[in-house]
Amino acid sequence: SCLLLITDTTLRLADHPALVRAGESGAPVIPLYVHDDDGGDDWTLGGAARWWLGRSLAVFQDALEGIGSRLIIRKGDAAAEVAALAAETGAETLFLTRSYDRHGRAREAALKRMAAAEGLTLKRYGGHLLFEPDTIATQKGDPYTVFSPFWRACLKEKPPKPPLDAPKALAGPVTWPDSLTVADLDLAPKPVDWAAGLRGTWTPGEGGALARADAFIVDSLASYKKHRDRPDLAHTSALSPHIRFGEISTRTLWHRAQEAMLRNESLEASAEHFTRELGWREFSYHLLYHFPDLADAPLRTNFTAFPWRQGQSAELTAWQKGRTGFPIIDAGMRQLWRTGWMHNRVRMIVASFLVKELLWHWRDGEAWFWDTLVDADPASNAASWQWAAGCGADAAPYFRIFNPILQGEKFDPEGAYVRTYVPELAHMPPEFIHKPWEAPALVLSAAGVTLGDTYPAPMVDRKQARDRALKAFEEVKTAQ
Ligand code: FAD
Repeated sequence: SCLLLITDTTLRLADHPALVRAGESGAPVIPLYVHDDDGGDDWTLGGAARWWLGRSLAVFQDALEGIGSRLIIRKGDAAAEVAALAAETGAETLFLTRSYDRHGRAREAALKRMAAAEGLTLKRYGGHLLFEPDTIATQKGDPYTVFSPFWRACLKEKPPKPPLDAPKALAGPVTWPDSLTVADLDLAPKPVDWAAGLRGTWTPGEGGALARADAFIVDSLASYKKHRDRPDLAHTSALSPHIRFGEISTRTLWHRAQEAMLRNESLEASAEHFTRELGWREFSYHLLYHFPDLADAPLRTNFTAFPWRQGQSAELTAWQKGRTGFPIIDAGMRQLWRTGWMHNRVRMIVASFLVKELLWHWRDGEAWFWDTLVDADPASNAASWQWAAGCGADAAPYFRIFNPILQGEKFDPEGAYVRTYVPELAHMPPEFIHKPWEAPALVLSAAGVTLGDTYPAPMVDRKQARDRALKAFEEVKTAQ
């Protein structure tokens, strides 16, 4: 028999190269998931991602049963558990999917050492990315640190091969080894059930991913380019958690977008823009692969001594809980808390506010997102926070400080997004919804708003905060 290692980024049947190749090997296949809760650093799975994983594992288990297979679940160190199961079942080959983050790479290295010692053949496949990060390099052979030339170089490569179909059957052993249940992994929210908003928003698992992809292509792709920055219109795919857990491959999405474009020329601009966003994910993984400490250390080393403010405090809590007094920021942070997700434009606005207006350490923002996002991703989260803080690759220039009022007025013009997540402001007229402190007393009282009571007054004077940020960032710049 052979073993197929399932991880939290491979929870699908379709376009799963390691699974398909294991099936084609002719040996009975034993799919194995090893839950390792001890990541050894700050980046073990956050709360929202644990909730998603529990649901997605259960769906994947059913899907495997549907093709005559099973999912064997164990807990502990992956290499030790694989060695034990191989000894128990006489398996001779281990099929697995390549990982790119520090933890996954360490696991892979340990599996390699164990396989060599135990005489197990190890077969490794891609599947999580469109292009392998070590196959894309500048002419000098260096990693890319700027997105546009990186993406041009990717597109010069052969386009991704067509996705592999889901197998209809997967032969297993006559006797199955013992397994834990998903419930044994203790992934459910504790000590209180805080996941109602997540349950109401998402359908984890491959079926949910495919349904969302279909709905996106049919209903929203046409207007993606035009409306992708509008949190009030929700025209992006919201596929990120499905992609994060590998419930749908980006190769499948790439081809779906290409097919849509071939059928209907008018979709070209939107489809290209959508695949470009998949490109940003590739770029994040390229950075993570070449700079494994991306989540912790600034790519621009002159930021190492930057005077970030940090640690838990009333200010950080106000940002985390959506009580800053800036409506678009509070709406975003509350969307995150309630649904485990936030629109990309708003992620940029809230991140800029934290690192620039509050001069707070980007790692505190990154850690909060890590714990609360259902799509918390080791590459995209780290790269995006470094981008926002100005210390990353191809980062936002230091003098670019998102103005939360203008951003709100431009991208949520009627205030519908704010009204959804900040109900205290539901009756504010559009004119003042992004700056309630400018509303005349009569307007405030008609809307039932008392600043500092029913809704917070702005937590900072933006002008002073802006000046402080510009000064601090100027100093880093001159130190370059
Ligand atoms: P769509 O617009 O439909 O895009 C399709 C897919 O492309 C996304 O599902 C995602 O996989 C990928 N993608 C889109 N934009 C980006 C981007 N800028 N960078 C990398 N990949 C992208 N994305 C995550 O998946 N996980 C994270 O932990 C994460 N943290 C972020 C933190 C900050 C501070 C910021 C500014 C952005 C972060 N992003 C993260 C990127 C982006 O916000 C989300 O991928 C996007 O909002 C997901 O929504 P969607 O699926 O509707 O995207």
